[in-house]
Amino acid sequence: MINEYFETNIPGVYAIGDCAQFDPPIAGRKPVEQVWYTGRMHGEAVAKTICGQRTAYRPGPWFNSAKFFDMEYQVYGDINAKPDDTVDCLYWQHEDGQKSIRIAYEKAGGTVVGFNLMGIRYRHEVCDQWLRQGTSIKEVIKNLKKANFDPEFFDRHEKQLLELYHEKFSHDPIESKHNHGFLALFN
Ligand SMILES: Cc1cc2nc3c(=O)[nH]c(=O)nc-3n(C[C@H](O)[C@H](O)[C@H](O)COP(=O)(O)OP(=O)(O)OC[C@H]3O[C@@H](n4cnc5c(N)ncnc54)[C@H](O)[C@@H]3O)c2cc1C
Repeated sequence: MINEYFETNIPGVYAIGDCAQFDPPIAGRKPVEQVWYTGRMHGEAVAKTICGQRTAYRPGPWFNSAKFFDMEYQVYGDINAKPDDTVDCLYWQHEDGQKSIRIAYEKAGGTVVGFNLMGIRYRHEVCDQWLRQGTSIKEVIKNLKKANFDPEFFDRHEKQLLELYHEKFSHDPIESKHNHGFLALFN
């Protein structure tokens, strides 16, 4: 068991990585974080403490990505398999079943709380900033192009997400500044 400084119950002994269990858990995180990225972040934080600058672990929004054979996935923020009543999702799946995008947002206010991507990559720094700033689903969809990480010549799917947005939020449409219709945003 460790606290937010990775300190065990023995002075001068720290634990990080897969073997570390936070007690209490860091706000918004699980007590055990068993992925490579968090292991590195643990190391950076505890190194500061050991070097004399006592630093609490403040990881920000959760993220992870991996590749199993040909299938890549990414997670940013909180995406539960069964979202509770306060959360709704925009969900798009490619007809070939190989790609999907799920964006979770609070029903009240529309703040985006998480992204789950299968077979598609979004930019970590963009999603992280949206989550930290409590960005609305409208702003995220409007600026979705900024999150796209896939290299040139890959298919883009912003238009499909925009259409889904308009199905759910017909009362609050996204228009282009120049009034050329919303699809102009993605040309
Ligand atoms: C199959 C698999 C797939 C994974 N895929 C991903 C992924 O896609 N993305 C991701 O982010 N994470 C992934 N992970 C998790 C990631 O590998 C771990 O979170 C990360 O390696 C943990 O780092 P660590 O340094 O805490 O522990 P480890 O990497 O387990 O390092 C601990 C080291 O301590 C050594 N050791 C143990 N006991 C002793 C002892 N008594 N004396 C000396 N040395 C000892 C071990 O041999 C080992 O080298 C995966 C893990 C597994 C098992």
